[in-house]
Amino acid sequence: MTFHSLGLEPRLLKGVEAMGYTEPTPIQADAIPHILAGTDVVGCAQTGTGKTAAFLLPTLQRIPTREGLKALVVTPTRELALQIGEVARDAARFSGHRTAVIHGGVGYEPQIDKLRRGFEIVVATPGRLLDIHERGEIDLSGVEVLVLDEADRMLDMGFWPDVRRIIRLLPERRQNLLFSATLSSGVLRVVQSTLHEPVRVETAPATTPVDRIRQVVYPVGSQQKSQLLASLLAEVTDDGRVLVFTRTKHRADRVQRVLQRSGVSCAAIHGDRTQAQRQRALDGFKDGQHRVLVATDVVARGIDVDDITHVVNYDLPNTPEDYVHRIGRTARAGATGHAISFLAPEEITTLRDIEVALGEVLACEDLDGFEYGDRIVPEADRPATRATRTVYSSGIQRRGRNRRITRR
Ligand code: AMP
Repeated sequence: MTFHSLGLEPRLLKGVEAMGYTEPTPIQADAIPHILAGTDVVGCAQTGTGKTAAFLLPTLQRIPTREGLKALVVTPTRELALQIGEVARDAARFSGHRTAVIHGGVGYEPQIDKLRRGFEIVVATPGRLLDIHERGEIDLSGVEVLVLDEADRMLDMGFWPDVRRIIRLLPERRQNLLFSATLSSGVLRVVQSTLHEPVRVETAPATTPVDRIRQVVYPVGSQQKSQLLASLLAEVTDDGRVLVFTRTKHRADRVQRVLQRSGVSCAAIHGDRTQAQRQRALDGFKDGQHRVLVATDVVARGIDVDDITHVVNYDLPNTPEDYVHRIGRTARAGATGHAISFLAPEEITTLRDIEVALGEVLACEDLDGFEYGDRIVPEADRPATRATRTVYSSGIQRRGRNRRITRR
């Protein structure tokens, strides 16, 4: 399978080559021919599957240059908007399409200046796009292709009313592409109300993480999590890049402080940080200045860094979907990755929900040499279905036991 055989024109193939892509990913192979044919498409794909190029390349081929705005990509976060904008610019390097990116958290003027210079494709977060439209700075009446990226996230974040308002500003006749990591009932309702006889393409069932990720659970008392993290980081080789997730912003800040005190170079990124702070943290992580990035789920989707070797769930996420999104940040671009979830006793029910959604039981392991205090280790033969009610009853493990890494 080649990009050429999917029907892409030479001007886009040159862009693909310059981006260093040699063959299409599965979602690209599936989606590109349908999009080129003008069909509405629902793509069920996580970040990391190559979905951005899957919708951008054929969209660029379908729209003219120098005739004003023809394609609109709506995405939930600034980070995603910036990343998609970057891919769009790279992909369009030889096609002549111009990209504008619109997102909140920064001044209006530079964005408006850019818009006045002309563009064919806009990548935007919903609120700022509406603001700029209300100021009369963008005309959406020529849009031929609408992409709703990370539709599930936009619903979760309460952006749907804004997205609906945007859709009402578009011409009725247009092509609609919707991408989402999960196809929840909310997303399916959106599909029904917005898309016209869509074709569905998917890489894998929504909650199945990539096979290349080795997932393990480290049972630990909640008081020992930061110690365990520090010991774990000491074991990860120097070229390892580690993304740590916490449940709250406050905990992210705390973990960052603890790690910095123990001499680990790290940054934190969450919803309370300004756009500039987030970008600085991400850049520092990307260029290797920080080995560790601590983040919350709100910003997880914006983290598009290829060589993350380990994702550590310092706290388990509340939903299986977030678990899949988090661990999907590792094992990108063909590499293998590790996903390690710290499990405090109060998180056992959450783990169970995740395992039921995954349809598999995750192996519990111990970090070699770590002095564990009180904790609860789940039964190894717990079921990954909801049908039975056997649960975790192995009791408390005492200090000093299970010091070797053992698979249960
Ligand atoms: P995405 O799922 O769009 O966030 O893409 C994930 C990563 O895969 C990005 O870093 C892309 O640059 C990379 N990528 C996308 N398509 C390909 C491809 N065909 N070959 C190699 N890398 C790709």
